[in-house]
Amino acid sequence: MSVELPFETLPARFQEGAQCIANALNRCNRVVVSGHINADGDSVASLAAAGLILCALGKEYALYSSTGIPDYLSFIPATVCTSLKSLPFAPRSALILDCCDIGRLSAELAACLPKLSSVNVDHHLGGEGLGNLANWVQPESAATAQLMAYVALACHLPLEGRLADAVALGIVSDTGGFCHSTTDEHVFRLATHLAAGGCNIPQLREKLEARWSVGQMRLWARLMRRSLLLRNASVIFCAVRLRDFRECGATKEDMEGFVEQLRRLRGVKVAALLREEKPSLCKFSLRSFGATNVQAAAASLNGGGHRNAAGGTLRLALPQARISLLAAIMRRLDSEEARN
Ligand code: 5GP
Ligand code: MN
Repeated sequence: MSVELPFETLPARFQEGAQCIANALNRCNRVVVSGHINADGDSVASLAAAGLILCALGKEYALYSSTGIPDYLSFIPATVCTSLKSLPFAPRSALILDCCDIGRLSAELAACLPKLSSVNVDHHLGGEGLGNLANWVQPESAATAQLMAYVALACHLPLEGRLADAVALGIVSDTGGFCHSTTDEHVFRLATHLAAGGCNIPQLREKLEARWSVGQMRLWARLMRRSLLLRNASVIFCAVRLRDFRECGATKEDMEGFVEQLRRLRGVKVAALLREEKPSLCKFSLRSFGATNVQAAAASLNGGGHRNAAGGTLRLALPQARISLLAAIMRRLDSEEARN
Protein backbone atom coordinates (compact mmCIF):
# COMPACT_ATOMS: atom_id res chain seq x y z
CA MET A 1 0.00 0.00 0.00
CA SER A 2 1.33 3.45 -0.80
CA VAL A 3 0.34 6.64 0.98
CA GLU A 4 1.14 9.60 -1.23
CA LEU A 5 2.82 12.76 0.04
CA PRO A 6 2.56 15.23 -2.85
CA PHE A 7 4.82 18.24 -2.38
CA GLU A 8 1.94 20.62 -3.22
CA THR A 9 -0.02 19.36 -0.19
CA LEU A 10 2.67 20.34 2.34
CA PRO A 11 2.10 23.52 4.38
CA ALA A 12 3.34 26.66 2.59
CA ARG A 13 6.23 27.15 5.05
CA PHE A 14 7.64 23.71 4.18
CA GLN A 15 7.16 24.18 0.43
CA GLU A 16 8.83 27.59 0.45
CA GLY A 17 11.74 26.53 2.66
CA ALA A 18 12.38 23.29 0.79
CA GLN A 19 12.16 24.96 -2.63
CA CYS A 20 14.57 27.67 -1.57
CA ILE A 21 17.12 25.04 -0.42
CA ALA A 22 16.60 22.91 -3.54
CA ASN A 23 17.26 25.97 -5.76
CA ALA A 24 20.39 26.84 -3.77
CA LEU A 25 21.73 23.26 -3.95
CA ASN A 26 21.27 23.31 -7.71
CA ARG A 27 23.68 26.27 -7.79
CA CYS A 28 26.30 24.54 -5.60
CA ASN A 29 29.06 22.11 -6.44
CA ARG A 30 31.98 20.49 -4.62
CA VAL A 31 29.86 20.54 -1.51
CA VAL A 32 31.13 19.64 1.93
CA VAL A 33 28.15 18.53 4.06
CA SER A 34 28.47 18.91 7.81
CA GLY A 35 26.30 18.53 10.90
CA HIS A 36 27.25 19.65 14.40
CA ILE A 37 30.19 18.22 16.33
CA ASN A 38 29.43 15.11 18.39
CA ALA A 39 26.85 14.04 15.83
CA ASP A 40 23.55 12.61 17.08
CA GLY A 41 20.90 10.59 15.26
CA ASP A 42 19.35 13.55 13.47
CA SER A 43 22.71 15.00 12.48
CA VAL A 44 23.90 11.70 10.96
CA ALA A 45 20.50 11.14 9.34
CA SER A 46 20.49 14.61 7.76
CA LEU A 47 24.02 14.07 6.49
CA ALA A 48 23.08 10.74 4.91
CA ALA A 49 19.91 12.21 3.36
CA ALA A 50 21.84 15.20 1.99
CA GLY A 51 24.41 12.87 0.42
CA LEU A 52 21.68 10.95 -1.40
CA ILE A 53 20.02 14.17 -2.59
CA LEU A 54 23.29 15.70 -3.85
CA CYS A 55 24.20 12.42 -5.56
CA ALA A 56 20.82 12.41 -7.36
CA LEU A 57 21.43 16.03 -8.41
CA GLY A 58 24.75 14.93 -9.95
CA LYS A 59 26.87 17.05 -7.59
CA GLU A 60 30.34 16.36 -6.27
CA TYR A 61 30.00 16.19 -2.49
CA ALA A 62 31.60 14.76 0.64
CA LEU A 63 30.08 14.11 4.05
CA TYR A 64 32.11 15.50 6.92
CA SER A 65 32.05 15.00 10.67
CA SER A 66 35.19 15.94 12.57
CA THR A 67 34.11 13.74 15.49
CA GLY A 68 33.08 10.83 13.24
CA ILE A 69 29.89 8.80 13.58
CA PRO A 70 29.14 7.32 17.02
CA ASP A 71 29.18 3.51 17.22
CA TYR A 72 25.48 3.23 17.99
CA LEU A 73 24.68 4.86 14.61
CA SER A 74 27.22 2.87 12.58
CA PHE A 75 24.41 0.87 10.93
CA ILE A 76 23.63 3.92 8.76
CA PRO A 77 25.52 3.50 5.47
CA ALA A 78 27.21 6.91 5.37
CA THR A 79 30.95 7.39 5.00
CA VAL A 80 32.32 10.58 6.49
CA CYS A 81 35.65 12.40 6.24
CA THR A 82 36.88 13.49 9.67
CA SER A 83 39.24 16.15 8.32
CA LEU A 84 38.79 18.74 5.58
CA LYS A 85 42.29 17.75 4.40
CA SER A 86 40.97 14.33 3.40
CA LEU A 87 38.16 15.61 1.15
CA PRO A 88 38.47 14.34 -2.44
CA PHE A 89 38.23 17.95 -3.77
CA ALA A 90 38.76 21.55 -2.71
CA PRO A 91 35.27 22.52 -1.51
CA ARG A 92 33.42 25.45 -3.06
CA SER A 93 30.20 25.10 -1.07
CA ALA A 94 29.09 23.98 2.36
CA LEU A 95 25.76 22.50 3.39
CA ILE A 96 25.43 22.90 7.16
CA LEU A 97 22.77 20.72 8.79
CA ASP A 98 21.18 20.50 12.25
CA CYS A 99 23.36 23.38 13.45
CA CYS A 100 23.03 27.16 13.17
CA ASP A 101 25.63 28.02 15.81
CA ILE A 102 29.14 28.42 14.42
CA GLY A 103 30.53 27.31 17.80
CA ARG A 104 29.10 23.85 17.18
CA LEU A 105 31.02 23.37 13.91
CA SER A 106 34.56 22.05 13.94
CA ALA A 107 37.13 24.84 14.19
CA GLU A 108 38.58 23.97 10.75
CA LEU A 109 35.20 24.22 9.03
CA ALA A 110 34.24 27.40 10.91
CA ALA A 111 37.52 28.96 9.74
CA CYS A 112 36.97 28.25 6.04
CA LEU A 113 33.20 28.85 5.95
CA PRO A 114 33.46 32.53 4.89
CA LYS A 115 35.29 31.43 1.72
CA LEU A 116 32.54 29.01 0.67
CA SER A 117 29.03 29.54 -0.66
CA SER A 118 26.94 28.13 2.15
CA VAL A 119 23.48 26.72 2.70
CA ASN A 120 22.03 26.02 6.16
CA VAL A 121 19.08 23.81 7.17
CA ASP A 122 18.24 23.50 10.85
CA HIS A 123 15.49 23.29 13.46
CA HIS A 124 17.18 24.71 16.57
CA LEU A 125 15.95 27.84 18.32
CA GLY A 126 17.84 31.08 18.43
CA GLY A 127 19.74 31.36 15.14
CA GLU A 128 19.14 33.11 11.83
CA GLY A 129 21.22 30.63 9.89
CA LEU A 130 24.86 30.37 8.84
CA GLY A 131 24.30 30.33 5.08
CA ASN A 132 25.35 33.13 2.73
CA LEU A 133 23.38 31.56 -0.17
CA ALA A 134 20.28 30.20 1.60
CA ASN A 135 18.98 29.49 5.09
CA TRP A 136 16.04 27.44 6.29
CA VAL A 137 15.72 27.46 10.07
CA GLN A 138 12.38 25.99 11.16
CA PRO A 139 12.38 25.61 14.96
CA GLU A 140 8.91 24.09 15.26
CA SER A 141 9.86 21.12 13.10
CA ALA A 142 10.80 17.84 14.77
CA ALA A 143 14.08 17.10 13.03
CA THR A 144 16.42 18.47 10.41
CA ALA A 145 15.95 15.14 8.61
CA GLN A 146 12.23 16.01 8.32
CA LEU A 147 13.19 19.21 6.51
CA MET A 148 15.61 17.29 4.29
CA ALA A 149 12.75 14.95 3.34
CA TYR A 150 10.86 18.00 2.06
CA VAL A 151 13.98 19.19 0.21
CA ALA A 152 14.12 15.75 -1.49
CA LEU A 153 10.46 16.11 -2.52
CA ALA A 154 11.19 19.60 -3.87
CA CYS A 155 13.93 17.93 -5.99
CA HIS A 156 11.33 15.39 -7.24
CA LEU A 157 13.07 12.50 -5.45
CA PRO A 158 10.93 9.70 -4.01
CA LEU A 159 11.36 9.03 -0.27
CA GLU A 160 12.32 5.38 -0.54
CA GLY A 161 15.19 3.00 0.20
CA ARG A 162 18.19 4.54 1.97
CA LEU A 163 16.74 8.03 1.79
CA ALA A 164 13.59 6.87 3.61
CA ASP A 165 15.69 5.04 6.21
CA ALA A 166 17.81 8.15 6.84
CA VAL A 167 14.76 10.39 7.26
CA ALA A 168 13.16 7.87 9.62
CA LEU A 169 16.33 7.74 11.75
CA GLY A 170 16.32 11.52 12.17
CA ILE A 171 12.65 11.66 13.07
CA VAL A 172 12.74 8.71 15.47
CA SER A 173 15.88 10.09 17.17
CA ASP A 174 14.79 13.68 17.61
CA THR A 175 11.21 12.89 18.63
CA GLY A 176 12.38 10.25 21.12
CA GLY A 177 10.31 7.69 19.21
CA PHE A 178 7.35 9.95 18.33
CA CYS A 179 6.98 11.30 21.88
CA HIS A 180 8.47 14.78 22.15
CA SER A 181 6.36 17.92 21.89
CA THR A 182 7.44 18.49 18.27
CA THR A 183 5.69 15.26 17.16
CA ASP A 184 2.80 16.85 15.24
CA GLU A 185 0.56 15.76 12.40
CA HIS A 186 3.23 16.57 9.80
CA VAL A 187 5.66 14.16 11.47
CA PHE A 188 3.04 11.42 11.55
CA ARG A 189 2.09 12.11 7.95
CA LEU A 190 5.70 11.83 6.82
CA ALA A 191 6.23 8.69 8.93
CA THR A 192 3.08 7.11 7.46
CA HIS A 193 4.39 7.82 3.97
CA LEU A 194 7.76 6.25 4.84
CA ALA A 195 6.20 3.19 6.51
CA ALA A 196 3.76 2.62 3.66
CA GLY A 197 6.73 2.74 1.27
CA GLY A 198 8.43 -0.12 3.13
CA CYS A 199 10.55 1.66 5.74
CA ASN A 200 10.68 -0.56 8.85
CA ILE A 201 10.41 1.93 11.72
CA PRO A 202 10.01 -0.66 14.54
CA GLN A 203 13.22 -2.36 13.37
CA LEU A 204 14.98 0.98 13.37
CA ARG A 205 13.82 1.65 16.94
CA GLU A 206 15.07 -1.77 17.96
CA LYS A 207 18.53 -0.95 16.56
CA LEU A 208 18.56 2.31 18.53
CA GLU A 209 17.11 0.84 21.73
CA ALA A 210 18.64 -2.62 22.14
CA ARG A 211 22.27 -1.61 22.34
CA TRP A 212 23.18 -1.36 26.01
CA SER A 213 26.53 -2.69 27.17
CA VAL A 214 27.01 -4.04 30.69
CA GLY A 215 29.16 -0.96 31.29
CA GLN A 216 26.25 1.31 30.41
CA MET A 217 23.92 -0.53 32.76
CA ARG A 218 26.41 -0.25 35.63
CA LEU A 219 26.95 3.44 34.92
CA TRP A 220 23.23 4.27 34.75
CA ALA A 221 22.57 2.37 38.00
CA ARG A 222 25.32 4.37 39.72
CA LEU A 223 24.03 7.67 38.36
CA MET A 224 20.40 6.97 39.21
CA ARG A 225 21.46 6.49 42.84
CA ARG A 226 23.54 9.64 42.79
CA SER A 227 20.91 11.94 41.28
CA LEU A 228 19.86 14.80 43.55
CA LEU A 229 16.45 16.36 43.96
CA LEU A 230 16.50 20.12 44.41
CA ARG A 231 14.02 22.99 44.68
CA ASN A 232 11.21 20.91 46.17
CA ALA A 233 11.97 18.09 43.75
CA SER A 234 11.21 20.27 40.72
CA VAL A 235 14.84 19.93 39.58
CA ILE A 236 16.77 16.69 39.30
CA PHE A 237 20.52 16.96 38.89
CA CYS A 238 23.27 14.46 38.23
CA ALA A 239 27.01 14.95 37.68
CA VAL A 240 29.21 12.40 35.91
CA ARG A 241 32.95 12.34 36.39
CA LEU A 242 35.54 10.92 34.00
CA ARG A 243 36.39 8.27 36.54
CA ASP A 244 32.76 7.02 36.53
CA PHE A 245 33.26 5.92 32.92
CA ARG A 246 36.54 4.17 33.74
CA GLU A 247 35.20 2.47 36.84
CA CYS A 248 32.03 1.20 35.11
CA GLY A 249 33.70 0.25 31.81
CA ALA A 250 31.46 2.68 29.95
CA THR A 251 32.01 5.38 27.31
CA LYS A 252 30.59 8.89 27.01
CA GLU A 253 28.29 7.66 24.23
CA ASP A 254 26.67 5.45 26.88
CA MET A 255 25.18 8.61 28.42
CA GLU A 256 22.91 9.14 25.40
CA GLY A 257 19.32 8.92 26.67
CA PHE A 258 20.12 9.11 30.39
CA VAL A 259 18.90 12.65 31.06
CA GLU A 260 15.53 11.75 29.48
CA GLN A 261 15.15 9.07 32.15
CA LEU A 262 15.70 11.63 34.92
CA ARG A 263 12.96 13.80 33.46
CA ARG A 264 10.51 10.93 33.99
CA LEU A 265 10.36 11.47 37.75
CA ARG A 266 6.90 12.72 38.69
CA GLY A 267 6.81 16.46 39.40
CA VAL A 268 10.22 17.23 37.87
CA LYS A 269 10.30 20.39 35.73
CA VAL A 270 13.98 20.35 34.76
CA ALA A 271 16.36 17.40 34.49
CA ALA A 272 20.01 18.44 34.38
CA LEU A 273 23.04 16.35 33.59
CA LEU A 274 26.58 17.64 33.91
CA ARG A 275 29.32 15.57 32.31
CA GLU A 276 33.04 16.08 32.90
CA GLU A 277 34.77 15.96 29.50
CA LYS A 278 38.22 17.09 30.63
CA PRO A 279 39.40 18.22 34.06
CA SER A 280 38.32 21.79 33.31
CA LEU A 281 35.63 21.32 30.66
CA CYS A 282 32.09 20.07 31.24
CA LYS A 283 29.10 19.48 28.95
CA PHE A 284 25.59 19.92 30.23
CA SER A 285 22.25 18.60 29.03
CA LEU A 286 18.89 19.99 30.12
CA ARG A 287 15.45 18.53 29.57
CA SER A 288 11.95 19.76 30.44
CA PHE A 289 8.36 19.23 29.44
CA GLY A 290 5.78 21.71 28.13
CA ALA A 291 6.21 25.42 28.78
CA THR A 292 9.40 25.17 30.87
CA ASN A 293 12.08 26.62 28.60
CA VAL A 294 15.50 25.06 29.14
CA GLN A 295 16.81 26.57 25.91
CA ALA A 296 16.70 29.96 27.65
CA ALA A 297 18.67 28.58 30.62
CA ALA A 298 21.23 27.00 28.26
CA ALA A 299 21.48 30.20 26.19
CA SER A 300 22.33 32.18 29.34
CA LEU A 301 25.43 29.94 29.54
CA ASN A 302 26.21 30.29 25.79
CA GLY A 303 24.54 27.00 24.92
CA GLY A 304 21.32 26.41 23.04
CA GLY A 305 18.94 23.86 21.58
CA HIS A 306 15.17 23.54 21.84
CA ARG A 307 12.61 24.58 24.45
CA ASN A 308 12.50 21.12 26.02
CA ALA A 309 16.01 19.86 25.16
CA ALA A 310 19.08 22.04 25.34
CA GLY A 311 22.75 21.78 26.11
CA GLY A 312 26.07 23.54 26.21
CA THR A 313 29.68 23.57 27.34
CA LEU A 314 31.21 25.15 30.44
CA ARG A 315 34.96 25.73 30.53
CA LEU A 316 35.07 25.10 34.26
CA ALA A 317 36.00 22.30 36.63
CA LEU A 318 33.03 20.22 37.69
CA PRO A 319 32.29 21.86 41.09
CA GLN A 320 32.27 25.38 39.57
CA ALA A 321 30.32 24.21 36.51
CA ARG A 322 27.73 22.72 38.83
CA ILE A 323 27.26 26.06 40.62
CA SER A 324 26.86 27.98 37.32
CA LEU A 325 24.49 25.43 35.83
CA LEU A 326 22.23 25.17 38.86
CA ALA A 327 22.13 28.96 39.22
CA ALA A 328 21.05 29.34 35.57
CA ILE A 329 18.28 26.75 36.03
CA MET A 330 17.03 28.34 39.25
CA ARG A 331 17.03 31.82 37.65
CA ARG A 332 15.01 30.53 34.73
CA LEU A 333 12.46 28.72 36.92
CA ASP A 334 12.16 31.74 39.22
CA SER A 335 11.49 34.06 36.29
CA GLU A 336 8.95 31.66 34.71
CA GLU A 337 7.13 31.26 38.01
CA ALA A 338 7.12 35.03 38.66
CA ARG A 339 5.39 35.50 35.27
CA ASN A 340 2.64 32.95 35.98
P1 5GP B 1 22.26 17.24 24.23
O1 5GP B 1 21.88 17.57 25.62
O2 5GP B 1 21.58 15.99 23.77
O3 5GP B 1 23.72 17.29 23.97
O4 5GP B 1 21.66 18.41 23.33
C1 5GP B 1 20.31 18.78 23.44
C2 5GP B 1 20.00 19.85 22.42
O5 5GP B 1 20.78 21.01 22.69
C3 5GP B 1 20.35 19.44 21.01
O6 5GP B 1 19.39 19.96 20.14
C4 5GP B 1 21.67 20.07 20.75
O7 5GP B 1 21.82 20.33 19.41
C5 5GP B 1 21.62 21.33 21.61
N1 5GP B 1 22.95 21.65 22.14
C6 5GP B 1 23.75 20.84 22.87
N2 5GP B 1 24.91 21.47 23.17
C7 5GP B 1 24.84 22.69 22.60
C8 5GP B 1 25.74 23.81 22.54
O8 5GP B 1 26.85 23.80 23.05
N3 5GP B 1 25.30 24.92 21.85
C9 5GP B 1 24.07 24.97 21.26
N4 5GP B 1 23.72 26.07 20.59
N5 5GP B 1 23.22 23.93 21.28
C10 5GP B 1 23.58 22.81 21.95
MN1 MN C 1 18.16 17.74 15.31
